[in-house]
Amino acid sequence: MSKVIIIGAGGVANVVAKKCAQNDQVFTEVLIATRTVAKADKIVAEIKEHMPESKAVFTTATVDADNVPELVKLINDFGPKMVINVALPYQDLTIMDACLETGVHYLDTANYEPKDVAKFEYSWQWAYQDRFKDKGLMALLGCGFDPGATQAFTAHHAKHHFQEIHYLDIVDCNNGNHGKAFATNFNPEINIREITANGRYWENGQWVETQPLEISQDIYYPKVATRKSYVLYHEELESLVKHFPTIKRARFWMTFGEAYIKHLNVLEGIGMTSIEPIDFRGMKVAPIEFLKAVLPAPESLAAGYSGQTCIGVQAKGIGKDGQPKVHFVYNVKDHADCYREVQAQGVSYTTGVPAMIGAMLMLQGEWMQPGVWNVEQLDPDPFFDAMNKWGLPISELADIELVKD
Ligand code: NDP
Repeated sequence: MSKVIIIGAGGVANVVAKKCAQNDQVFTEVLIATRTVAKADKIVAEIKEHMPESKAVFTTATVDADNVPELVKLINDFGPKMVINVALPYQDLTIMDACLETGVHYLDTANYEPKDVAKFEYSWQWAYQDRFKDKGLMALLGCGFDPGATQAFTAHHAKHHFQEIHYLDIVDCNNGNHGKAFATNFNPEINIREITANGRYWENGQWVETQPLEISQDIYYPKVATRKSYVLYHEELESLVKHFPTIKRARFWMTFGEAYIKHLNVLEGIGMTSIEPIDFRGMKVAPIEFLKAVLPAPESLAAGYSGQTCIGVQAKGIGKDGQPKVHFVYNVKDHADCYREVQAQGVSYTTGVPAMIGAMLMLQGEWMQPGVWNVEQLDPDPFFDAMNKWGLPISELADIELVKD
């Protein structure tokens, strides 16, 4: 039915491509375009080996997604309906520009972040609203798991369970073990920038700033474990408090093990997480980029990864019956199952599946509408059906408060 371009060939792109291969009724022709084309070729070779029954046709190409004219040529040559951007957040704006110029729809999984400032917010991408609307094109922002599914979970709370949401807690637990002393589960540069930044949460109409990992509590993750979890700033908080103005407090919690934090503290203490370039043998090198080159690639963690992820959203407020209510919506995913299915670990899997689903809902029309959209603004029902069908079944838990005030 549709031709799409996937940009990027990392851990998440691997999952998006393989889920598109499974969903070959919708995704008939897929071009994987990236900086290092050998990585795209490897994904396609694995699809041929592990999924010979797929009728989707895959090709690969090299592209520098920082370069708009190169992107425009790539898009014009292939003629897709949409671009799925699973490169890095730095490329969001150049890819959106290229989509506007060529008249194709756009989806990504992380909001724009300039390379030289550790700051991410939606303002840059929301500023494209009129340009996408005027051209009759859709841009869907942040359609991975968090951001992404967490916003659909919030929309589901609002549609099916609550008159008003007052308190929102997004919780993200990776209770897996990859056997490495220190590694990040998605792009190390983006991951470390996120965790070493100050924490931030929304309370009574304003942002409250914390030191990195200053606030923590033990949270019980159903079917998985009780794990110490830390408040950090996460991008979907910005759009959620805008689109659900009854929210009095919104927080995002993530689990980190002691060894992970110890390594991070040392790396930060000696300057290895800095984004400020230093002179090294006549070259300018940002220490964090060097660190990324030393650390294991996220996709290399997949083989032998054990344990589960549990990501969910707890809402508290006034239920549909007018009574106080607390409700939890979540998914649990097993790392080894992900590897068996698509040779990926759980963090790439839980990001890539919602990206494929978002693209499918756009292409099939359920979500397609001109303009720039965040996931919570769209109907959560078809998304829930698709999550249950495509490998991320959703569970719900009523009347138990997992995250305390
Ligand atoms: P990886 O680092 O594994 O992959 C990124 C890919 O993008 C690599 O193939 C890389 O190429 C390619 N790339 C980088 N720069 C360019 C460029 N200028 N031109 C073309 N290609 C480029 O990252 P992940 O797969 O782990 O993450 C992908 C995206 O998903 C990121 O934006 C990340 O923030 C987001 N994410 C979202 C989550 C969510 O739940 N919403 C969770 C996890 C990740 P090369 O191989 O040459 O380096």
